[in-house]
Amino acid sequence: MRPEILFPLFAPVTKLAGVGPRIGKLIEKAAGAHIVDLLWHLPAGLVDRRFSPKIAEAPDGLIATIEVTVDHHEKPQNRRQPYKVICSDDSGEITLVFFHAHTDYLLKTLPVGETRVVSGKVEHFRDGVQMPHPDHIVPLKDADEIKTVEPVYPLTAGLTLKTVGKAVRGALELAPEMPEWIEPGFFAQQKWPAWQPALLAAQRPSDMAELEPMTPARQRLAYDELLANQLALALIRRSMAKRPGRETQGDGRLRNRILGSLPYKLTGAQTRVLEEINADMAASHRMLRLLQGDVGSGKTIVALMALLNAVETGRQGVMMAPTEILARQHLDSLEPLISAAGVRVALLTGRDKGKPREAKLSALAAGEIDILLGTHAVFQDGVDFKDLAVAVIDEQHRFGVHQRLALTAKASEAAPDLLVMTATPIPRTLTLTVYGDMEVSRIDEKPPGRAPIDTRALPIERLPEVVEGVKRAIADDARVFWVCPLVEESDVIDLAAAEDRHVHLRSVFGERVGLIHGRMKGPEKDAAMLAFVEGRTDVLVATTVIEVGVDVPEATVMVIEHAERFGLAQLHQLRGRIGRGSRAGTCLLLYQPPLGATAKTRIETMRETEDGFVIAEQDLKLRGAGEMLGTMQSGFPEFRLADLAVHTDLLATARDDVKLVLNNEPDLDGKRGPALRVLLYLFERDAAVAFLRSG
Ligand code: ADP
Ligand code: MG
Repeated sequence: MRPEILFPLFAPVTKLAGVGPRIGKLIEKAAGAHIVDLLWHLPAGLVDRRFSPKIAEAPDGLIATIEVTVDHHEKPQNRRQPYKVICSDDSGEITLVFFHAHTDYLLKTLPVGETRVVSGKVEHFRDGVQMPHPDHIVPLKDADEIKTVEPVYPLTAGLTLKTVGKAVRGALELAPEMPEWIEPGFFAQQKWPAWQPALLAAQRPSDMAELEPMTPARQRLAYDELLANQLALALIRRSMAKRPGRETQGDGRLRNRILGSLPYKLTGAQTRVLEEINADMAASHRMLRLLQGDVGSGKTIVALMALLNAVETGRQGVMMAPTEILARQHLDSLEPLISAAGVRVALLTGRDKGKPREAKLSALAAGEIDILLGTHAVFQDGVDFKDLAVAVIDEQHRFGVHQRLALTAKASEAAPDLLVMTATPIPRTLTLTVYGDMEVSRIDEKPPGRAPIDTRALPIERLPEVVEGVKRAIADDARVFWVCPLVEESDVIDLAAAEDRHVHLRSVFGERVGLIHGRMKGPEKDAAMLAFVEGRTDVLVATTVIEVGVDVPEATVMVIEHAERFGLAQLHQLRGRIGRGSRAGTCLLLYQPPLGATAKTRIETMRETEDGFVIAEQDLKLRGAGEMLGTMQSGFPEFRLADLAVHTDLLATARDDVKLVLNNEPDLDGKRGPALRVLLYLFERDAAVAFLRSG
């Protein structure tokens, strides 16, 4: 249960004075639904209202706080004209200008003959001085309240600074003194403020320097967030690892047979990674391993070896992919290999319904299926294994921690070994936040014989040339992926662009141009993909559904339209679809000029390197961690106070501290335990608390 000290912070924002349902909705959009969210809503800038000149001395375009006498109100003649209030001091006149004004309100706040202090942006207009929509209008006695440095908050349409500022101040009043959860030695050494003063300092900066992420206050808050993240991950992971694993060590008969039948030898990296996996599986603890390897680095065969290891001991394995197409492709590529060796494999996806599904499920429960391949469907209730030894999750970044947990809960006796594979190289710093204690293996070497990809950038005007080039490539038996723009938040527009291009290319190349997009039904998608894989179409126009994992070795040309709209990670993923065979690949990045600085760097990076790990580090630099994680991986946490581009060291410290504290007090019931529990709840890691003995 949430500690009492936090109750006020988890009340809805509408509990605050001045926040009704309408404003509440807007605040929810900008910051979050609870009062605690306002605490984390840190200012992004400052307005200095301490400058308090006479009217005649107030410069154009600056914020000023001016003491004036209200002379008269000038009502507009028609609706388009503004309402004006003419004021003055002994140096001159200033006109306060209001559009869509509420007359009653203005007559009340600016009574004729009275003195008022107004603050806002001064504008010199024709011969006069104006202040359109002052930010503040107060009586003289309240002048000091506004002659300050005022934080500027991120807003959303319809929400004013004044409203948010007031709500944040209200939230701050509810922020209690917290017990200290940071390790005392480290806390003293850093000379950080305690939680409440840190929050106040971060929320009420007095100059721009205090907005920097490396101030003691901001560092402290960032550290709190990272500590909560690392602690939660450690608890979840521990509970997974604590479940007894089983020793899985097959005799190698299936693996040797299949390796012997392959037309290639494993790379050094594949062999090394397999040794790591085998050692984990053979040990009595549970395997929790992340396998990172660039697109085309050959993860599938590694996964198959892990699955076969289990099958050799008479037990089962499951491999899950994020999409139907990928699950099917796993089946298509693995089935011929393993059926020949007498291994029974089946596919389970959301499309399995009714009797056939029942039949598969009972075969699975009876142990008549050795390896199950599938999509999320393998999580569903009713999917029971006879004896699951190992679970492989492919393209992990599409899944969250919860799904991972759900899958591993499926094991009947002991928890299965878990191998998580991702084709998105993740910078080391980020790996730590998400995978915490998980062991990491990296395939950092591509299979030999891959010709490099020639990557070129061209402005969209040169489309006709590109079409000609594609024509030549097709004549030379190449297959071409043609990716159409990604338009944020609108797969309808995505679709229209892809459909237009499809029609256009058909008019040039004839029938042999396919189309695949996210709105298609599963069977349609598969048909389009299959036609391309089998060479019945030469060009496949696609939205980003082809992003992950699809393998068409014959595809050697990749055209990406509006390349400037894609992130670096996405471009890299897309390009990874080609150059999988021995024929040289060509990647054409078509862009709409002019290119912004970031887009330019992205495209240059793509031209310079094919190394996913290098690209990932560059991506992190360009985008910052928050955005990178936000758009790339839905299963990743989003940090509100920590910025991993600058707080990396704090992350490592938090991780070490978590190790230490869980060593000393495994159930957080010692000296630091109570405070750390508050921390977990403060950052809404309630789920992790459930893994403590006295949760
Ligand atoms: P990914 O890591 O993207 O899942 P895949 O496992 O699909 O990559 O492998 C890509 C291609 O490389 C496949 O066609 C596979 O057969 C081939 N491949 C895998 N390992 C090797 C190797 N050691 N030598 C040559 N080709 C390999
Ligand atoms: Mg793959």
